[in-house]
Amino acid sequence: MTKMERLKAEARETATLRGHRLGGFQAAAISGEASAEELRPGATAVCDICGALVVVDPAPAPGEPEILGEGVDRDCTGIDQEWHETA
Ligand SMILES: [Zn+2]
Repeated sequence: MTKMERLKAEARETATLRGHRLGGFQAAAISGEASAEELRPGATAVCDICGALVVVDPAPAPGEPEILGEGVDRDCTGIDQEWHETA
């Protein structure tokens, strides 16, 4: 398993724990805070329910996370709604 594959799996697990339902990861060019002009390969996925973005950055700047975005920073806004539907 490559580092990118491992990070995608970790990102999906974290987002799922927060109630998100991530779609498939897409390859994307990631720019860091420190060097915005230097793009490097990464991946992004979006929650099917609330649209939260998850970004996987396999080579972040020192101190920067490898996995970031709303999908790992906050719970899915669809959680309450789904609970009510199944209650
Ligand atoms: Zn969500």
